[in-house]
Amino acid sequence: MPDPLAYLGEQLQAWREEGAYQRLRELQSACEPVCRFDGREVINLASNNYLGLANHPKLVEAALDATRKFGVGSGAVRTISGTMTLHLELERRIAAFKRVEAAVVFQSGFTANAGTVAAILGKEDHIVSDELNHASIIDGARLSRASIHVFPHRDAAAAERILAGLNSQPGRKLLITDGVFSMDGDIGPLPELAAAAGRHGAIMMVDDAHASGVLGRNGRGTVDHFDLHGRVDVQVGTLSKAVGVLGGYVCGSRNLIEYLYHRGRPFLFSTSHPPAVAAACLAAFDILEGEPERIANLWSNTRYFKERLSALGFDTGASETPITPVMVGEAKTAHEFSRQLFEEGLLATGIGFPTVPRGKARIRTIVTATHTRAQLDRALEILERVGRRMGLIAGPGGLCYPER
Ligand SMILES: *Cc1c(COP(=O)(O)O)cnc(C)c1O
Repeated sequence: MPDPLAYLGEQLQAWREEGAYQRLRELQSACEPVCRFDGREVINLASNNYLGLANHPKLVEAALDATRKFGVGSGAVRTISGTMTLHLELERRIAAFKRVEAAVVFQSGFTANAGTVAAILGKEDHIVSDELNHASIIDGARLSRASIHVFPHRDAAAAERILAGLNSQPGRKLLITDGVFSMDGDIGPLPELAAAAGRHGAIMMVDDAHASGVLGRNGRGTVDHFDLHGRVDVQVGTLSKAVGVLGGYVCGSRNLIEYLYHRGRPFLFSTSHPPAVAAACLAAFDILEGEPERIANLWSNTRYFKERLSALGFDTGASETPITPVMVGEAKTAHEFSRQLFEEGLLATGIGFPTVPRGKARIRTIVTATHTRAQLDRALEILERVGRRMGLIAGPGGLCYPER
């Protein structure tokens, strides 16, 4: 019998030949500034564990405590019988932290975005979306069956022209942007977008996955960073990155949240988090509010690392946040760069098409609050050595321009 899935193997082989095949690296220790991957100790510049909370003793303790008291599973979806006290406590905590009426937690940031966009819009409606918005927004937009209008990256004037063109059309409009863009590390022009949404009666939504715990007071996100409280209708955040655990949340008005209880499909049809997850997230919010020096460290490490990368002659693109790409051009070069860095003791992911446009391949680095200066210096040494060997930066004494 011929294998009806043979075409998958053929596609995989084609990806191998064009250098686009991805093998999963195996993490054999906890997520820390230095980890063991595939049997090798490396400095980890590839995690979203911005504040070092993924293996923080207080979060671990909270998870263990909750597990002993309440078990490992919630037993059901939220709307049947899977809403535990810890889930509600976490949602109240998030709403207070974000200074909004209410919040609801989903299983992930992905389901929070996709579930919300698909729930609040229908096929007569319009979604105006930045071209670099996250895949979960794109999927949610498709699931909603609304018309999708893409505007050039960070171009608020173009977004407003699209909104103006839709003024005569029936249907609701949603203007949506990432707060921090995950591959470039630049920040969405939220003040301009919120103003445009306001002028045209559009719903304003921001996906703050990479801003949660990173930007704004105590990591409250881009709305707080730009002081736009009350001007953004729907804020999505993640509990999987700086918060260190797993999950996503949506916050805004009480009506928005109660509507999602009724129509957010991942909320209705997929089981809620284990109690350990909610308890660990609650402990993370204690740390966000009680230890602001972690965020200060994250930013001082970020500045240090970026300055030195530029001084070495690397092109770090348009980044304004701890996400720092090192641009190399071709996907093959990015993967080879990443591979050689790993051999020398540094993990930084190579990223090429289709995650980023062709010709804009890069390695992506993310420093965390818990990397020491010695670890960052060691990482920079490795980047310099491999960068020179590959001709990505000029040799010693030469002009520091990237050679392509
Ligand atoms: C990571 C990410 C998500 C998804 O968050 P998870 O909690 O990991 O599912 C959503 N949006 C953006 C912009 C992201 O970077």
